[in-house]
Amino acid sequence: MNLYPNLILEALRHVKYPATGQDIVSAGLVADNIRIDGNSVWFSLQLRPNDPLGKSLVKACEQAVLTYVDRNVDICGHIDILTPQPIEQTPKESAMDQVKCKIAVSSGKGGVGKSTVASNLAVALAQQGYRVGLLDADIYGPSIPKMFGLEEERPVADDQGRIVPIEKYGVKVLSIGFFVDPGSAIVWRGAMASNAIKQLIEEAAWGELDYFLIDLPPGTGDIHLTLIQNIRLDGAIVVSTPQQVALAAAIKGIDLFRNDKVNVPILGIIENMSWFTPMELPDNKYYLFGKEGAKRLCEERNIPLLGQIPIVQSVCEAGDDGRPAVLSNEIIAQAFENVIKKTIFATK
Ligand code: ADP
Repeated sequence: MNLYPNLILEALRHVKYPATGQDIVSAGLVADNIRIDGNSVWFSLQLRPNDPLGKSLVKACEQAVLTYVDRNVDICGHIDILTPQPIEQTPKESAMDQVKCKIAVSSGKGGVGKSTVASNLAVALAQQGYRVGLLDADIYGPSIPKMFGLEEERPVADDQGRIVPIEKYGVKVLSIGFFVDPGSAIVWRGAMASNAIKQLIEEAAWGELDYFLIDLPPGTGDIHLTLIQNIRLDGAIVVSTPQQVALAAAIKGIDLFRNDKVNVPILGIIENMSWFTPMELPDNKYYLFGKEGAKRLCEERNIPLLGQIPIVQSVCEAGDDGRPAVLSNEIIAQAFENVIKKTIFATK
């Protein structure tokens, strides 16, 4: 492997500074003292004291080098403080101390509608008057910014140096996607991902919340175990379609939360894409992915079925338009009202 500074800089251009949206190299945040020794690379980011994005940016940079240069680079990033820190800081409290209920929204496999469900659930809870936060922790494909129409938005820091979530439709939103180019398929490594996510959870200015929803990455690998161990959750919701492969993956998800090392209560399963009803035949239900698979799974495993969400074309369109369907579609609004009642009951 032949490493040289420009190669590293090119990789670092894939990382954006969330507060401005500019890539960190153009923004002048990468110090020009990149050091290379064989397979080892050291770089520094020049940031203001207490920049709340600092640790997450270093992680994103390390991941960008592994992704765009070589997986075998031994990479190590530092933060260079631009000016001396004027005031002695007292140890930070976790933002989660002010949160009543932390719920992970998970799925065994991708594409079952986990993020769609998380977005609609968050907005529906906010409409009922609850104070809601939503963190998009889906490192494989963060889609919440798009679903909330926040792709152009960048979180900034408050006067205490904490990242401020962006508020939309009554929900406070942060996404791991604010830290990397949406187009670049960066897959974070376990420890990096869980550290960055932990920081977004504990060190952001979430304020007082009744419900904090975390949209987890799909799957049940080691990375999930680490993540879940790092977040003290009050409960988990598993999203699945009625299809057998999705249900098999959902069972793995349930087992992950019930694992002795984790022990997170399963609040219930939300069955998504339960049936399709064409507009011109409102009384007909077509069970495209099989009938009531999640319902049976719930009965077998003694888990509440929190609700069944039909396939509705406007769900997809609303997601793409950045306005969750619960705000405009009667059928979806009704379905989520039922889900919310059961979720609130399950967290009492
Ligand atoms: P995941 O987070 O599980 O990968 P997404 O929430 O991104 O899945 O959903 C995958 C796709 O399916 C998106 O295009 C979304 O709009 C669509 N979708 C999800 N749920 C529904 C539904 N109930 N009706 C119609 N389309 C849906």
